[in-house]
Amino acid sequence: LTQLFRPLDLLGMVYRTIRQGVIDMGSMFDLIDTDAEVKDAPGAPPLQVASGHVQFENVRFGYDPSREILKGIDLDIPAGSTVAVVGPSGAGKSTLARILYRFYDLTGGRVTIDGQDISRVTQDSLRAAIGIVPQDTVLFNDTIGYNIAYGREGATPEEVANAARGAAIAGFIQALPDGFDTRVGERGLKLSGGEKQRVAIARTLVKNPPILILDEATSALDSRTEADIQATLEAIERGRTTIVIAHRLSTVVHADRIVVLDSGRVAEQGTHAELLRRGGLYAEMWARQAQEREDGDEAADPEGAQ
Ligand code: ATP
Repeated sequence: LTQLFRPLDLLGMVYRTIRQGVIDMGSMFDLIDTDAEVKDAPGAPPLQVASGHVQFENVRFGYDPSREILKGIDLDIPAGSTVAVVGPSGAGKSTLARILYRFYDLTGGRVTIDGQDISRVTQDSLRAAIGIVPQDTVLFNDTIGYNIAYGREGATPEEVANAARGAAIAGFIQALPDGFDTRVGERGLKLSGGEKQRVAIARTLVKNPPILILDEATSALDSRTEADIQATLEAIERGRTTIVIAHRLSTVVHADRIVVLDSGRVAEQGTHAELLRRGGLYAEMWARQAQEREDGDEAADPEGAQ
């Protein structure tokens, strides 16, 4: 599966970020080869976020000019709502999120936030407005407090502690021998997948962005951890415009709207119930995943109750 932000892409960025001494969550998620492509327009003003209304208007894009990936996407994401993007592998879900973060410029159409074309505002202001919870969180060989504070330059210890509470990881941290000063990462305490995700959520809470992109983890967390994290995510989505790139349908049922992408086009959109009634691609995917869940349960418990 293609990840929204690949660890290898991150390595180069992390290196440059450290070299420049810049603490900028946005640049950390930049892709190594995109800097030259995307430039601020001369005299570009900063983005002014009023409510966080996101619109894609006839968006066309291809990584390679000979192969169009997004083929005319129209999406209206009301301020404060949660939209889940689903669809077959390779449909263009992660690409859509990268476009909103302006990793790439479009070949047609435009994306606006509160009416401002994102290609006409400064990249810094755009990326300050958008928080990303990636699939895999890169932890620095530093303290857990530093790893959370990384969400925003100048975050105070109190803000870090509040964010840890919001991400439901404060109790875990307080129980560590050195609390927020405990070293984590390669040369420190190893965190589980779920704990790392909570650090990513806490980082995002420190940043406190009006717009969120959640790249749902494909890696298997046990179902209890997954349900707990899902509840935390739903809490931080409140009051923010949220785009969830979903690889499993079980986590998108609560979304205000589900957008089904297929081969770079919006195939259908609606609520979970509407899409099931429609009996189209979503209903088909739902039935298939339900079957897989059932098969998985049987495999896990072959002698289970009849
Ligand atoms: P998945 O569910 O598997 O993550 P997706 O719907 O998120 O898939 P994308 O990652 O958006 O799909 O990819 C859409 C298409 O663009 C795929 O055919 C992919 O091979 C291609 N693609 C993705 N990233 C790049 C890139 N950096 N350069 C060239 N092509 C790419």
